[in-house]
Amino acid sequence: MIGATSAIVGVAHVDLHAHSLASDGACAPSEVIAAAHRAGVLAIALTDHDTIAGVEEAEAAGERIGIRVVAGVELSAVENDRETHLLGLHLVQRDGMEERLIELRAARRRRGAQTVEALNALGVTITLDDVMQQADGGAIGRPHVARALVAAGWVPDVRAAFDRFLGAGRPACIAKEPFPMRDAIALVHEAGGLAVLAHPGREGTRDWIESLANAGLDGIEVRHPSHSAEDVARLAALCAHYDLVPSGGSDWHGATEGPRLLGSQRVPADWLGRQDARVSTRRAQRPA
Ligand code: AMP
Ligand code: MN
Ligand code: MN
Ligand code: MN
Repeated sequence: MIGATSAIVGVAHVDLHAHSLASDGACAPSEVIAAAHRAGVLAIALTDHDTIAGVEEAEAAGERIGIRVVAGVELSAVENDRETHLLGLHLVQRDGMEERLIELRAARRRRGAQTVEALNALGVTITLDDVMQQADGGAIGRPHVARALVAAGWVPDVRAAFDRFLGAGRPACIAKEPFPMRDAIALVHEAGGLAVLAHPGREGTRDWIESLANAGLDGIEVRHPSHSAEDVARLAALCAHYDLVPSGGSDWHGATEGPRLLGSQRVPADWLGRQDARVSTRRAQRPA
């Protein structure tokens, strides 16, 4: 009996990075929550790209199903043509950030149009409408272009679309507009959330993390499917050194197999507890 109890305590885990149809995920927000429940996680963060449109539905599903939902977003900071992702977790005053998110989504649409132009110049005749249909009102991204290319028969699958046209350095890969990391961190803080550096991987060096910590970063995504064991060890050590909170998640977009399954990162529930403590301290210091 004691063994069984400790085993249950040992497996308590959460997933703090997932996408829905509000951006480039495959499932409606409520379906993401249902999938998280099936995966056995205690809490799930919805972190769509540049939108919080799915959060309300996710929260309602969480209440119904009995699983904690963390309100989140994934922002793309862009400085000197280098793109870095920032998760905003535990967002509370969400209305204030919407104006900026609307601008970011408008920029995504402009970039979608430029991507279609680049494809057309290569003789690949898809239209922005084809892409918009794939996005179905959600924040437009390269996965929607990829799905439009698959639907029109230009490539066999999404992976081939990235390999041939859309991936880094490929001919229809268009850079995003500048969005300084400091502004992204400020946007998350204005919403009462924690600013967490998403999947830094090998780029998560001591110097860079130190400069971001000085800029107000709260945490680092330590566990992510793209991270090596060395990444995880280094990032956990840097978290401890700079008094940042650790986070982690599967970056689920709807996969039904492979390393990006919901819950696959087995992020300890204790990490979420440390985030909660950080949020409480923050609110005590700066009451809303
Ligand atoms: P965007 O935000 O428009 O630059 O699109 C980036 C998104 O595309 C990421 O969030 C992933 O969901 C997806 N993605 C990036 N690289 C690849 C790839 N090589 N194959 C499939 N999906 C990818
Ligand atoms: Mn994505
Ligand atoms: Mn990302
Ligand atoms: Mn993501």
